[in-house]
Amino acid sequence: MRRILVTGGAGFLGSHLCERLLEQGHHVICLDNFYTGRFENVGHLREGAYAAYFELVRHDVVDRYYAEVDEIYHLACPASPVYYQHNPVRTLKTSVVGTMHMLELAQQTGARLVITSTSEIYGEPEVHPQREDYWGHVNPIGKRACYDEGKRCGEALAAAYAAQHRVDARIVRIFNTYGPRMNEADGRVISNFINQALREEPLTVYGDGSQTRSLCYQSDLIDGLIAMMACDHDPGPTNLGNPIEMSVREIASVILDLVGSSSPLEYKPLPSDDPTRRRPDISKAKRVLGWEPRVMLRDGLDHTIDYYRSRMPAFRGNGHRKTRRSQVASIK
Ligand code: NAD
Ligand code: UDP
Repeated sequence: MRRILVTGGAGFLGSHLCERLLEQGHHVICLDNFYTGRFENVGHLREGAYAAYFELVRHDVVDRYYAEVDEIYHLACPASPVYYQHNPVRTLKTSVVGTMHMLELAQQTGARLVITSTSEIYGEPEVHPQREDYWGHVNPIGKRACYDEGKRCGEALAAAYAAQHRVDARIVRIFNTYGPRMNEADGRVISNFINQALREEPLTVYGDGSQTRSLCYQSDLIDGLIAMMACDHDPGPTNLGNPIEMSVREIASVILDLVGSSSPLEYKPLPSDDPTRRRPDISKAKRVLGWEPRVMLRDGLDHTIDYYRSRMPAFRGNGHRKTRRSQVASIK
């Protein structure tokens, strides 16, 4: 059993990671300031078999934190453009000062640290698909800069602490990941489209919907984070994501089909600096971590649709139409 700190542990990815680490028999400290995270994402972990091994700490990583730990997964930072742009100074402080505090904690305790960076560090990429040796094309003063440059600085800090203080700090660059527990208010493409389709409201497509993203299901991503922590050496920054690339219009069409919705598309202005295309080259993750995604898009979306459907007041209870996967599960 190891003592593991998960910052941002009450968020979408953090809560799934806490759950997985507890299942593996570890002691988990979940630290969160609940900016975008929710108590309900982890409330179930404070009851039953895991309760003795799960600590929930309300804390902001912009302030120093100390605990004796063996491993640190540093996820604290809003991932949604709506939230990270709402308070850009706070986002920068979280990414820069917060990451520095986690590096200091790793230095003090000797813990291994995995830092969650992002595909956003590639900005509007001139190289496609994006490989780790591409340095990126980022607008340093645009609307996304607080996040993109904050994460880039987090990477620079990790490299500096590794070189100067021998901190074992590893970087994963996460590409768009989705699944149950994404905050409905996040404004991200998957949560927006599914909730709009379930309500039979228009799906809001920004721009002409030709921009692309590559979508990874949460359980695959969690496998990747754990594989990075377990790696016997620091392989350097490593992309984690699903390389299957789709346009936003194609994403809308798959979701309408799975939900069985006849919502129309409503075209809205493209937000500034919205990257035109994004696809990870994951050959490094395959080679050094033995990792690649396994969950098919339609299966991951079915789970996600079931989650949002169960949260809609009109659908609570047993009477609602289920998605393909839950129909299959209930037949078995
Ligand atoms: P999320 O917003 O659901 O989770 C982030 C968590 O961090 C939330 O619980 C939030 O309350 C917490 N938090 C924010 N600022 C904090 C602070 N100052 N102190 C303590 N806690 C703080 O987002 P997510 O999708 O789970 O993302 C987790 C990490 O993965 C983030 O660092 C994000 O940048 C990175 N990432 C995610 C994606 C994705 O598609 N989900 C893509 C690239 C990178
Ligand atoms: N998007 C969209 N409609 C929405 C939400 C997002 O067309 O309601 C687009 C957005 O402009 C971007 C893509 O979907 O091109 C992915 O957006 P998201 O916020 O999920 O992630 P990110 O932009 O950080 O990749």
